[in-house]
Formats: sequence, C-alpha cells, structure tokens
Amino acid sequence: MSSTEQRVAVVTGAARGIGAATAVRLAAEGHPVAVLDLDEAACGATVEQIAERGGRALAVGCDVSDSAQVNRAVERIAAELGPPAVLVNNAGVLRDNLLFKMSDDDWDTVLGVHLRGAFLMSRACQAHMVDAGWGRIVNLSSSSALGNRGQVNYAAAKAGMQGFTKTLAKELGKFGITANAVAPGFIATDMTAATAERVGMGFEDFKTAAAGQIPVQRVGEPGDIAHAVAFFVSEGAGFVSGQVLYVAGGPLN
Ligand code: NAP
Repeated sequence: MSSTEQRVAVVTGAARGIGAATAVRLAAEGHPVAVLDLDEAACGATVEQIAERGGRALAVGCDVSDSAQVNRAVERIAAELGPPAVLVNNAGVLRDNLLFKMSDDDWDTVLGVHLRGAFLMSRACQAHMVDAGWGRIVNLSSSSALGNRGQVNYAAAKAGMQGFTKTLAKELGKFGITANAVAPGFIATDMTAATAERVGMGFEDFKTAAAGQIPVQRVGEPGDIAHAVAFFVSEGAGFVSGQVLYVAGGPLN
C-alpha cells in the first residue's frame, strides 16, 4: 500500500457540489475519504460513487460549526477510517442580502459555518497531522473575498479564510503540514442555482450570462475545483504553502 492510500482525507460539505467532486477525486487518488456533511444520510450518494470506483469512504454527519460534534466526528473518523492527514474545509452556506437588510442571524450563520467551521475542523484534525509529521489542509475561499454586492457576510468569511490559511501555513509548516486555499469563481452547483432563483433568473440563462464575463467563456464545474484541491494535497506540493489559488476561468480585478 502506498503512503497516499493510507492517508485519510476528510472533506466537509461533501454530500454534493464541489465537496462531493473533491471527495470522489481524492478517493481516485487513493485516499480513504470521510464524506462529512450536516446530514449523514445525504452523504450516501458520494460514498456510493467512491465505492463503485473501488475506493473506501465513510459517511459522517456533523455540523462543522458545533465544537462537540466536530470533536466527536474527528474521533470517529480516526477510529473507523484512520487518523486524518488531509482536510478540505469546503462546507458552506449563503445568506445573501444588502447590508441594511442583513439580519444578525444571516451574519452569524455564514461566519459560523465557513470560518468557525474551518477553525474547529482544523484544530481537531491538526493533532493527528502533527503526530504523523505530515498533513494537508485546503480551505475553500471564493472570488467574493475581493468584495461582492449583497454578500458582506460571505465576502468577510471568504477573505477571513485567506488570513486563516496563511496563519495555519506559518504555524504548522514545521510539522510537515501545508495549508492552502482555493478561491473559485462561478461554479455550477446547487449554491449558484439557488442564487439564480433568488435573483429571478433560470439557471441556464444565469450560467450563460456569467460565462460571457469569464475569459474562458464558460462557467466552472465542481471537477475544476477538485483538480486544484488535488494539486495542493499531492505529495509533490509539499513546498507550496500559504497560497491562494483563484480558479475562475481568468484573472479577477
Ligand atoms: P453547495 O452545493 O451548497 O454544498 C455545500 C454543502 O455544505 C452542502 O452539502 C451543505 O449541506 C453543506 N453544509 C452547509 N452547512 C454545513 C455545516 N454547518 N456543516 C456541515 N456541512 C454543511 O455548495 P458548493 O457550491 O459546492 O460550495 C462548496 C464550497 O465552495 C463553499 O464553501 C462555497 O462557499 C465555495 N464556493 C462555491 C462557489 C460556487 O460558485 N459554487 C464559488 C466560490 C466558493 P446542506 O445541503 O445540508 O445544507
């Protein structure tokens, strides 16, 4: 068994979208994968896809913003799959609104899932990575980190993710752990479909309009992000740390 096959990966928000594609991709690279999401049953489809391709996966129900649930989930993963060596902090939610209409709950929920969730998961997993002297943490940021109308909560969380990533890289590098961020542009998932619905557009028209603004003239697919995550996780990327890679079909202003 190669070292990659023994290195357990945890992907949060992996029941669908970018997280599901990333879990399937990391399994294809040989990692046993903990498919973690709010609803354990919802993880079943991703776990099945991995198993059908000959990989190993475990469905784990957990709210990443809840400290006790996170600690229990990571203990369970370590016991049932093996100590986590790779963590992809992908779980996310949107609560878009203009500042003057944004509720306390919209702010707290978004900051809670993205930032507090990444913090709790990273803190719980790093102990295993430090013991092993090897680890990879990949955090999902966003092009919205640069500022996006109607997303003051999400933009703050995704910009925060970048500072969080760079600090993890500085603190954990001496233990053989790298930390990097992938910042997607427009990716076709349930999240962007929900945004289309909110602004009163059909998803196909919404994607066509978005593609027209993107240099490669298409919107992204979950696999585009999984590919970038797989690079940061790979053995050969051990000298790449504290970086933010925008995966958006072109440069952003
Ligand atoms: P998605 O399709 O909405 O999937 C997000 C997943 O996260 C869902 O399965 C969701 O579960 C789960 N989740 C939400 N809250 C959670 C919690 N507290 N604990 C555990 N899991 C939770 O989103 P996506 O488009 O794949 O996005 C994945 C990541 O990429 C997010 O961090 C997002 O901000 C980022 N991103 C996406 C885009 C894009 O264009 N799609 C662009 C930039 C960045 P439920 O279904 O039960 O809510």
